[in-house]
Amino acid sequence: MKSLVKAKAEKGIWLQDTQEPEVGHNDLLIKIRKTAICGTDMHIYNWDEWSQQTIPVPMVVGHEYVGEVVGMGQEVRGFAIGDRVSGEGHITCGHCRNCRAGRRHLCRNTEGVGVNRSGAFAEYLVIPAFNAFKIPDNISDELASIFDPFGNAVHTALSFDLVGEDVLITGAGPIGIMAAAVARHVGARHVVITDINPYRLELARKMGATRAVDVSKEDLQDVMNELGMSEGFDVGLEMSGVPVAFRDMLKKMNHGGKVAMLGIPPQDVSVDWNQVIFKGLVIKGIYGREMFETWYKMASLLQSGLDLSPIITHTFSVDDFQKGFDTMGSGQSGKVILDWQ
Ligand code: NAD
Ligand code: ZN
Repeated sequence: MKSLVKAKAEKGIWLQDTQEPEVGHNDLLIKIRKTAICGTDMHIYNWDEWSQQTIPVPMVVGHEYVGEVVGMGQEVRGFAIGDRVSGEGHITCGHCRNCRAGRRHLCRNTEGVGVNRSGAFAEYLVIPAFNAFKIPDNISDELASIFDPFGNAVHTALSFDLVGEDVLITGAGPIGIMAAAVARHVGARHVVITDINPYRLELARKMGATRAVDVSKEDLQDVMNELGMSEGFDVGLEMSGVPVAFRDMLKKMNHGGKVAMLGIPPQDVSVDWNQVIFKGLVIKGIYGREMFETWYKMASLLQSGLDLSPIITHTFSVDDFQKGFDTMGSGQSGKVILDWQ
C-alpha cells in the first residue's frame, strides 16, 4: 500500500510502498480518506532531537485522519463495515490504575499512533476498535480528519468554566486558534490570543478572537486596558510552548486565575513562582484528549454551530505531500489536509 514513511534518519519523509498492517482480534482495519499534518509530524519531518530519540526508522507516521471501516477482528463489537471513523491516537494499556478508573488520558503506558507504532499516513491503518470514534453524518471528512488536534483544543479550553470569563490564549497555532473559537462559542467574554505570526493572527480574528495581539509589536497590557480589563485574565490557555509567553501569561492572570498548559516547551522553563503562589493560581497540564468525553464534546460543538472550517487552509493530493509539508513548515497556513482518495 501507498504510505508516507520516515524511511531515513535525516530530514524528510518518503512516499513508499509498504506492507498492509495485520488486523488483530480487537482491531479495526480503516481505509484512509483524508489525513492532516500535525506539528508533531513537522518535528518528525525535520528530524529534531526529540524525533531522533523517539521515532523508530523506518516507520509509517501520521495520526490525524478520517477513514472508513473495511475490516475488523472477530472480537470487535459496536462497529460495522462502512462506518466512518477517526480515532484516538493514544493507545492505552487498559490495566493501569488510571485506565481501570476510566481516566485513559492519564495512562502511564500510552503509545502513540504514528509516533511509537505504525501511523495513519497510509492507505490502510489498524487500531484497536476501542480507540475508534464514529463520526456523525453531518460532519464533513475534512473536519473529521482534524479531530485529534481539535480535541487538544477542546480538552484544554473546557478544562475550566469559560462562561462570562476573560480568556488569554498564548500561541495562535492551529490548536490555539481552534481553542479561541471554542471559547467564544461556549460563552467567554473576551478571548485574547497572542502570537508573532501575522498570518495566524489574522486567521484567529476570522475565527472569533476578540483581539489577536502581535506581542512583537503590541503591549498586551495596552490591549487589556482598551478592553476595560482592570484586574487580569480569569483563564489562561498556554498553546505556544514558548517560555516568554508563559511567563507573561502568569503576570497577566487575575488572582485566583486558572491556567491550562498544552504547549510543550523545548526545555526546562524558569518561572516566577511568586506569581503562582501569591495569586493563588491553579495550573493544569493537558495531554491529549479525554477518552472519550472530549470526542463527544467535539461532535456536539460542531453540531451546535461552531464553525471550524476556516482553520483548514490547504488541501493537497497525497502525491503532492511535499507541498503539504512545505506549506505547513512555512507558518503561512492553518491545517493542511492530504487527500488519499
Ligand atoms: P504551533 O507550533 O503551530 O503553534 C505555536 C504558535 O506559537 C506558533 O504560531 C508560533 O508563532 C507561536 N508563538 C511563537 N512565539 C510566541 C510568543 N512569544 N507568544 C505567543 N505565541 C508565540 O503548534 P500547534 O500545533 O498549534 O500546537 C500548540 C502547542 O501544543 C505546541 O507547543 C505543541 O507542541 C503542543 N501540543 C501539545 C499536545 C499535548 O497533548 N500536550 C498535543 C498537541 C500539541
Ligand atoms: Zn493504562
